[in-house]
Amino acid sequence: MAQVTEQQIFEALKTVRDEGKDIVSQDMVADLWIEEGHVFFALRVEAERGPHLEPLRQQAEEAVLELPGVKEASVILTAERQASPDGGAPGPAAAHGAAEPSADQPLMPGVRSIVAVASGKGGVGKSTTAVNLALALAAAGHSVGLLDADIYGPSIPRMLGIGGHPTTDGGSKMKPLLSYGIKCMSIGFLIEENTPLIWRGPMVMGALEQMMRDVAWGDLEIMVVDLPPGTGDAQLTMAQRVPLSGAVIVSTPQDIALADARRGLAMFEKVDVEVYGIVENMSYFLCPHCNGRSEIFSHGGARQEAQRMGTEFLGEIPLDIAIREAGDGGHPIVVSDPESDHAKAYRAIAEAIWEKAAKAGA
Ligand code: ADP
Repeated sequence: MAQVTEQQIFEALKTVRDEGKDIVSQDMVADLWIEEGHVFFALRVEAERGPHLEPLRQQAEEAVLELPGVKEASVILTAERQASPDGGAPGPAAAHGAAEPSADQPLMPGVRSIVAVASGKGGVGKSTTAVNLALALAAAGHSVGLLDADIYGPSIPRMLGIGGHPTTDGGSKMKPLLSYGIKCMSIGFLIEENTPLIWRGPMVMGALEQMMRDVAWGDLEIMVVDLPPGTGDAQLTMAQRVPLSGAVIVSTPQDIALADARRGLAMFEKVDVEVYGIVENMSYFLCPHCNGRSEIFSHGGARQEAQRMGTEFLGEIPLDIAIREAGDGGHPIVVSDPESDHAKAYRAIAEAIWEKAAKAGA
């Protein structure tokens, strides 16, 4: 089937009206993105009208869905924002009824250090690492936030055993959810589970900014951000937009995963964010029956790679079913079995990160 064109989409959207005028001539349609029959775009609206415009959003979606060649349409509402004083491009903010923030306010004024956990590809245990490191930092007595920005598969709520929609604090801010003493907000709380997650560029940025600016994070010593896997444009822009103090890269020992990790390092270099080091996950296999150790993916690749790249090797975590069961069951190993060697390994890595973050913040 022929690919739907931008022109066809705009034609279809001319039939959708807001306050009597079509949304195309009002220049409300932004960030249109088409890929293999999937159509995504944003509708620019005034922030205060956001909560009342769900019917309009649905109409726009339906109009596009009726076009031949469209398998899926996903529309989000974004609030128009002022251009930032540094001359950066105007960034839309998702309009969930949040108050329009002023562009010159820091995004999270009470948060001292922000550390990204990144990986060159999915499935290497980035989220598992992010959660356990956040909990290890909390176990060391620090006040910790965890921001799940993994648009492709927000798994932090499951790993922390929390769900539902965040509530507001009575004003315009959402309250973060609390789990095991850390404050958490996930992109998974803000979007319906069946919403296609293949958001791109500025559309993602809207939700990301909302999670930073419109959440009552309060005072935190450190925040861990679970970035989406990969080193594409979406990740690069995210790394740029979140005021990061540093980044940690999670990799498995195989060469192929390490090549991805190298791209991760290069990405952070590009945006001038210090890479605190590499964590080798699934470093070796610990047999639950005999406790024997097998180096399935070879071993030590990340250590060598870190040396070669002039960054630090922060530690290794084995492939152990106990880590998977604990994480996927909502009780990460750092809290469910704090005396285990794995929990100790996470705490040691967390301490190294804390020292680097504290130094950077000094
Ligand atoms: P990513 O965020 O990189 O996509 P996840 O953290 O979601 O990866 O992990 C993918 C799967 O691997 C999950 O089921 C998780 O429980 C499991 N996993 C992650 N790290 C380990 C580990 N060290 N040992 C065993 N299972 C792990």
